[in-house]
Amino acid sequence: MSKKFGYLTALLGLSLLASAQADLGADEAPAAFGAATALTSAPTTAARRTVAPPAFDPRVMELAAAPSAERIEADIRTLIGFGTRHTMSQTDSDTQGIGAAVRWMKTEFEKISAECGGCLEVYEQRTLVKAGSERIDRDTEVVNVYAVLRGTVRPNDYVIMSGDIDSRVTDVMNSTSVSPGANDNASGLAGTIEAARVLSRYKFANSIVLAGLSGEEQNLYGGEFLAAKAKAEGWNVIGVLNNDMIGNIEGVNGIINNRSFRIFSEPYFQGADEKTLQQRRFYGGEVDGPSRQLARYVHRTTQTYLPQLDPMMVYRLDRFGRGGHHTPFNNAGFPAVRLMETNENYNRQHQDIRTENGVQYGDVIEGVNFDYAARLTGANVAALASLGWAPAAPTDVALGGGVQPAAKLRWKPGTNRNLLGHKIYYRLTTEPQWTHSVWVPAGTNEYTMTGLVVDNYYFGVAAVSRDGNESLVQFPGSVFRN
Ligand SMILES: [Zn+2]
Repeated sequence: MSKKFGYLTALLGLSLLASAQADLGADEAPAAFGAATALTSAPTTAARRTVAPPAFDPRVMELAAAPSAERIEADIRTLIGFGTRHTMSQTDSDTQGIGAAVRWMKTEFEKISAECGGCLEVYEQRTLVKAGSERIDRDTEVVNVYAVLRGTVRPNDYVIMSGDIDSRVTDVMNSTSVSPGANDNASGLAGTIEAARVLSRYKFANSIVLAGLSGEEQNLYGGEFLAAKAKAEGWNVIGVLNNDMIGNIEGVNGIINNRSFRIFSEPYFQGADEKTLQQRRFYGGEVDGPSRQLARYVHRTTQTYLPQLDPMMVYRLDRFGRGGHHTPFNNAGFPAVRLMETNENYNRQHQDIRTENGVQYGDVIEGVNFDYAARLTGANVAALASLGWAPAAPTDVALGGGVQPAAKLRWKPGTNRNLLGHKIYYRLTTEPQWTHSVWVPAGTNEYTMTGLVVDNYYFGVAAVSRDGNESLVQFPGSVFRN
């Protein structure tokens, strides 16, 4: 009996070691790394009883492929049909203007909810913006509509996907001219509605919000109001995936590419306190803010679940000198990123529909590739589902190991039902992505990586579920000696 048990333990221990090495072997490790791993401290007895998590979750694979180009096209055509969706356009018509568009969006969320037995809570957020405010010349109600797929384990943890309902032409104050906004941003809104359709087939541990925001072109009002509400109500916002223009594949520079898309993320919160900023300067990590970890997460889940896509990290808050609805969430201290096409076409953005010197201007339906928009929606869905099934992230992650050939990590596990263990991620300080990881089974909340000099790498810890879904990587927030 005891002999048999011993054999089993040894076997599991071996597979644990093998999987850790396979993980390392998968990437190009610096030459010194083989030796470093071999010297990694032996797992504890509890650790030996647990094997490494699966590399992917088949449910997420299925969901990532589920968004339909046909349904996205139909929704974009419906949105264009409202003539203009300018924030200050008419609200009293059933067929034209922002009012009709907002009511359609709400009805669409309610229909989706009816099909899943009322699984979505559908809310309207109305905020009056007074005449004389930035880009508003008459009293205007800015109306957001959002649906909440309530989390079954951590209902107050929120992951948000957003798109914008409003549109504009050349003059940002022009609220009457035809303004299809097919790509900017009917594409992002249609993707968000489609994500609600496919995600509502499942239940998730945390809450998922699918949000249609208004007032984007006027002064990012809708995002500001929803961020303020989240803050006032004490939502624990894990991350915001803002989709703004996810359908154009033909760049103004002539490049045509239906694989590449961009993930923009800020380096660090604007409101970070002085102590945190000083720590970052002294210990490193100025490219490792929470929004950046969220961006890396989307990059990784895209590569895992949508290998036909080619995600590009951009180490910037947004495009050069321009804005979007993730920024008000960043301003409120929430991790938030912008997802969008790589090759923009400026002739199709914020333009009166016209032909000038043989060039066609206007954000018309011909500029949207529906298959591409569906794939980018899939990239959102993969990240949302994976986060939705992941355990709560670890807290109090601390790093030690100065002046010795070892890196030491400590953390506290979040409250979880489904925790299989943690992954310690690491990379060279100049690498854009986490390149390597070590698996630490549940029950162990500290780890020493021997043979590795802490100076040369950045580290982070993620919690992993039994089905292989991971929390966001938590960068160490403090350091310890010895
Ligand atoms: Zn725009």
